[in-house]
Amino acid sequence: MQFIDLKTQYEKLKKEIDVNISSVLNSNQYMMGDFIKQLERSLAEYVGTKYCITCANGTDALQLALMAWNIKKGDAVFVPSFTFYATAEVVSLLGATPIFIDSDSQTFNMDAMKLEKAIKDILNTSELKPKAVIPVDLFGLPADYENIKKIATKYDLKILEDGAQGFGGSYQNRKACSFGDISTTSFFPAKPLGCYGDGGAIFTDNIDYYDILKSLRIHGKGSFKYDNIRIGLNSRLDNIQAAILLPKLKAFSDYELKDRNEIAKEYTKKLHNYATVPYIPKNTISSYAQYTILLENEETRNSLKECLHEKGIPSMIYYPKPLHKQTVYKDYNFNLNELNVAEDLSKRCLSLPMHPYLRSEQIDFICQSVIKELLVIRSNG
Ligand SMILES: *Cc1c(COP(=O)(O)O)cnc(C)c1O
Repeated sequence: MQFIDLKTQYEKLKKEIDVNISSVLNSNQYMMGDFIKQLERSLAEYVGTKYCITCANGTDALQLALMAWNIKKGDAVFVPSFTFYATAEVVSLLGATPIFIDSDSQTFNMDAMKLEKAIKDILNTSELKPKAVIPVDLFGLPADYENIKKIATKYDLKILEDGAQGFGGSYQNRKACSFGDISTTSFFPAKPLGCYGDGGAIFTDNIDYYDILKSLRIHGKGSFKYDNIRIGLNSRLDNIQAAILLPKLKAFSDYELKDRNEIAKEYTKKLHNYATVPYIPKNTISSYAQYTILLENEETRNSLKECLHEKGIPSMIYYPKPLHKQTVYKDYNFNLNELNVAEDLSKRCLSLPMHPYLRSEQIDFICQSVIKELLVIRSNG
């Protein structure tokens, strides 16, 4: 059994994907071609933003957005602690200071009340200038944009939505990757919409950001490639990846997102009496980048993972260490917040196999195994 079964997906979409790839190979145009233009149009239309800029990966997408806002040393950028490292890494890379915010215990996303407290603390106790907040749509669930937007407006912060896992989700009838002043996603193979290598995209409604981002993506170009007007990156998506993503995007919007949600519903129905299952707030749809359950403690979580492994069921711990506990941030002085929820989640979370091609007999087998092992572990404890 695969944790994410990309091979079954390829077999299903093989004809279209192969035709598209060979058309790139025969075209003599490997960068910035028609597939890129088509993909950017389709992505913007799907998400509901005016503009989309594809780029080399989801980490660059975040970095390019912060560069477009000239985020630099002396700036504070608020990020969740319970996320993938890239969200904070790009802030540090630009010399700015990531301020870690705790998670909401139900949604696992950034806790908006703790965000406001941290902004006040930074204003009162440091020289740092609060500039931006990066909410993450963790495991596919859009963050609490209603409250985060109010706070961002009050303190004049820009919102950069990290939708690397959120693509396809929605909140109050708006799609993920449309909530930020700039929003980003990743097409790393394991993400809800993945390519066969690295890839990413940036979304915005703001034409000034769009123009700057297009320049930053290609070495800070001006009116043409050898006119360099700012320091940028080399961060294009290649045509082959765009050619792969177009049929995958169609499958994603036609049935994969729906199937992911059906599978999650099935998991929840079977498991909710035995473990804490994902909480989906009202008017919210998750893209279920992960289906993550919580166990009562670290021991039970670790034993369950081990038992499932012995039965050939892969499971993953996203994330075993919150960012404020990472070695890279060990000498770091800006942990003003208590980050108890992030620490607790990292000890108790376990992600089960999740992809749109999971069959019902596989879901049954996984759930029966989880329940059986939990009963054994709990009776021994
Ligand atoms: C995967 C991921 C990224 C980085 O995307 P890459 O394409 O791997 O660079 C950033 N943020 C989050 C939350 C992610 O899950």
